[in-house]
Amino acid sequence: MPRLHRREFLKNLALVLAVRGLHAQPLPPRQIVPGVWFLEGDASKGYCNNILIEMRDYLVLVDANYPGRAHELLQIIPTISRKPLRWVFDTHAHRDHAYGNSVWTHAGATTLAYKSVVDEMNRWEPERWRATAAIRPDVRATGEQDVQRPEAVFDGPRFTLNDPGADGRVIEFLFLGWAHTPGDGFVWLPKERVLCTGDAAVNGPRNKLFDAWITNWPRVLDRALALQPLHVLPGHGSSGGAEILTGQRDFLLNLMRGVKAQAMQGLKPDQMHIHMKGPAANWVPTNPTSWRQDIETAALEIESGKPAGANPHVWK
Ligand SMILES: [Zn+2]
Repeated sequence: MPRLHRREFLKNLALVLAVRGLHAQPLPPRQIVPGVWFLEGDASKGYCNNILIEMRDYLVLVDANYPGRAHELLQIIPTISRKPLRWVFDTHAHRDHAYGNSVWTHAGATTLAYKSVVDEMNRWEPERWRATAAIRPDVRATGEQDVQRPEAVFDGPRFTLNDPGADGRVIEFLFLGWAHTPGDGFVWLPKERVLCTGDAAVNGPRNKLFDAWITNWPRVLDRALALQPLHVLPGHGSSGGAEILTGQRDFLLNLMRGVKAQAMQGLKPDQMHIHMKGPAANWVPTNPTSWRQDIETAALEIESGKPAGANPHVWK
C-alpha cells in the first residue's frame, strides 16, 4: 500500500475504533438459568465471553479472558454474587481466554484446565505472549513475561465439581477431543443442560483455525450435540441453542469438502473459491484475509495429512 494511502487507512481505522469504543456499551450480565450468568465480551477489545456459575458456597468462572477484562470482571462479579470465586477454567490456551490467569490467582482463585492447555502453552509461549504484549497495554501492564500456566489440570475425559445433596449443582469439565485447539475443554451442567463451549463453537465468523484439527472438530461437536444441550454459551458471539453447534460443524465440514474438491482439480489455495449456503454461511469471515487464511489452513491440513495445528505455523 502506498505510504500516503496507508496513513489515511490507519487514520480512518483509528477513527472507526475510537467511535466504536465510545459507543460500545458493555452488555449487562444475563442470567441463563438460576445461578448461571453469561457475560458477553466486548469484541472491539478482543475480549471473549465469560460464564459465571454459582455453587452452594463458591463461584466458578469460565475463561480467564485478557487481563483488562479480568480486572473489569473483578468489579462486576461481586455485584452478581458475594460468594468467593474459587475456580477459573481456561477453555483453551489462546490469549483472549487465558492471559488473565495471574489476575485471578492474585485475587485468590485457582486456575484450572485440561492438561493439553499447558502443553499448548509450553509449545507456543512465551512468543505469543511477547507478540501480544507489544500490541496490548493490558497484557504489558501485568509486567509479566509469560502466561501463567493453569494451577490445576485434569487428565482423562472428565473432572466434576459437586455441591452436596441430591439437588446440588453439578459441573462437569469435559475433554471431547482436539477441535479448535488440542486442549479444548467444555463446561457442562447436566441438570440444567447448559453447555459452555469456549472456541470449540463460536456464534458467527469469530474464529481462527491455525491450531485446529479441522477434520476432527465436527466429531467433537457431534459429541457435544449428543449431550442435547438446551443452552449453548459460546466463546464469542451471542448465546443460543444447539444450532450454534450444528452451524459451526457444518461450516467446517463444507470448508473441508470444498477445499478437498478444488485441490483435486489442481487449484492452489489462493485460487479457490468456496461458497457456503444455509446457516453455515454465518461462519464465513467477512474479512477476505481471514477467509483466505481459513482456506489455506484447511488446505494445509489436507496436504500434510495431519492436523493443521500439528504443522509449524505462526499466529496471524
Ligand atoms: Zn481460541
